[in-house]
Amino acid sequence: MTQKEIRSVVIAGGGTAGWMAAAALVRVLGPRMTITVVESSEIGIVGVGEATIPAIAGFNRMIKLDEDDFLRHTQGTFKLGIEFVDWWEKGQSYMHAFGPVGRDLAYIPFHHYWLRDQASGSAGSLWDYSFNFLAAKQGRFARVERIPDTPLAGLAWAFHFDASLYGAYLSTIAQKMGVRRIDAKISAVAQKEDGDVRALRLEDGREVAADFFIDCTGFRGLLIEQALETGYDDWSHWLPCDRAQAVPTANTGPAVPYTRATALEAGWQWRIPLQHRTGNGHVYCSGHTTDERARELLLGNVAGQALAEPKLLKFTTGRRKLLWNRNVVCMGLASGFLEPLESTSIHLIQIAIQRLILLFPHDGDCEQRRREFNRAAIAEYEYIRDFIILHYVANNRVGEPFWDQCRSMSIPDSLRHKIELFRETAGIFCSSDDLFQLTSWLQVLWGQGVRPRATHPFVEAVAPGDRAGYLRDLRALLAQAAQKLPSQAEFIAKHCSS
Ligand SMILES: Cc1cc2nc3c(=O)[nH]c(=O)nc-3n(C[C@H](O)[C@H](O)[C@H](O)COP(=O)(O)OP(=O)(O)OC[C@H]3O[C@@H](n4cnc5c(N)ncnc54)[C@H](O)[C@@H]3O)c2cc1C
Repeated sequence: MTQKEIRSVVIAGGGTAGWMAAAALVRVLGPRMTITVVESSEIGIVGVGEATIPAIAGFNRMIKLDEDDFLRHTQGTFKLGIEFVDWWEKGQSYMHAFGPVGRDLAYIPFHHYWLRDQASGSAGSLWDYSFNFLAAKQGRFARVERIPDTPLAGLAWAFHFDASLYGAYLSTIAQKMGVRRIDAKISAVAQKEDGDVRALRLEDGREVAADFFIDCTGFRGLLIEQALETGYDDWSHWLPCDRAQAVPTANTGPAVPYTRATALEAGWQWRIPLQHRTGNGHVYCSGHTTDERARELLLGNVAGQALAEPKLLKFTTGRRKLLWNRNVVCMGLASGFLEPLESTSIHLIQIAIQRLILLFPHDGDCEQRRREFNRAAIAEYEYIRDFIILHYVANNRVGEPFWDQCRSMSIPDSLRHKIELFRETAGIFCSSDDLFQLTSWLQVLWGQGVRPRATHPFVEAVAPGDRAGYLRDLRALLAQAAQKLPSQAEFIAKHCSS
């Protein structure tokens, strides 16, 4: 990358990625930098991507977004977790609920105490200890950060929102803060002699030059791939789903505060409840089913009336070999694709923005910053990849070709280690900056039928009667607290109804 002070940034693409980047960068770089977004209303956006994880609250705070205003403008609802239906086996379901499960005692994670007693049937379900789960299944929500008069954490929440409204909302905010918007088609990418990108050529003949570029052009990857030929690591071996069909339907009742992911014969179907409609989609493997069959299953599994024709999307799971190449950083679908099973793509955009802000190449001399950006971004991608693979590999849907293939595939060593460690002695170890922490792995491991051979011996230090009392009291406290919450419908009507 040429050494020169960076004074201008062009963001190519104005989908969720482009406008998230613009809103955040203008907040931080503000008047010191000109920021331009080039988007094409003729091409449009992918128009899916409606479920998030709690980390999005950090992004909202960073751009000083008022949560109620944001939900009103995006027809948003609250999300307390993801329910996985029929994943381990048909007829079984579990939730990856956000927030804590139980409460640790004397350095030993809670689940060891629960595991010690659950075999006898006296400890209830793992999810009896999740406040998020109890509230979600009763359709309840309130912004409770702590359960009153207890040391227990309150709810942890994320959002569902209408993807097209979200981009438009951020676009308004970013433009008010000084981001310039150009609505035009990019016809070519002009490069300097050394290979850096110099300018975007527009179909109307204009050129938009800048010192630094962010490629948010979606699956096309106009700068990062078509111009810079960065290359792509294909992960279809582990995550073979390569298509999705998405369809909005009319609501049939109050929105529940969680996403549902139902396993089907060659993939799975999402259901995302919004204020004004429900988002649905079927993610599937074209090697195991046809588009016609996938469409039929999708429409056969929705509750309300379809409001449009299903939209077909094709993708290859994986990531760019570099996420910062020369003077281009890519974000969103231009950077890679992980299926939306754990709603992580918008998070990957957010974390890429945060990382770019920390490592911004103000002076153009940035080799070490670029290396660090790529190292961290690749590690993040791979960590999420492993978590998603777990849902597929640990299945017991014997006799169904797609699921048999997933169960018998080889998996990354990093994931194998996590599964074997849990099997050995219920151990789950995460670093503090890992996206998914112990309770996330625990719920998915247990929910997918992975069972430990032993629990931590130190749980025996608590006398059996005390242990049972501790578990009973915790369950009762959480159940009572959940009962006191208003319904999500009441909460939205009071605070953020569209
Ligand atoms: C089936 C599916 C379901 C998903 N569900 C979730 C989910 O639940 N949660 C989640 O976090 N993420 C989800 N995602 C991912 C999420 O949709 C994306 O991360 C997010 O929408 C960002 O997209 P984007 O901005 O990168 O791309 P796009 O929305 O495709 O935007 C690309 C932009 O580039 C512009 N552009 C392209 N070419 C040109 C050109 N030649 N000239 C000018 N402009 C151009 C377009 O006009 C557009 O503005 C899902 C993705 C898919 C495919």
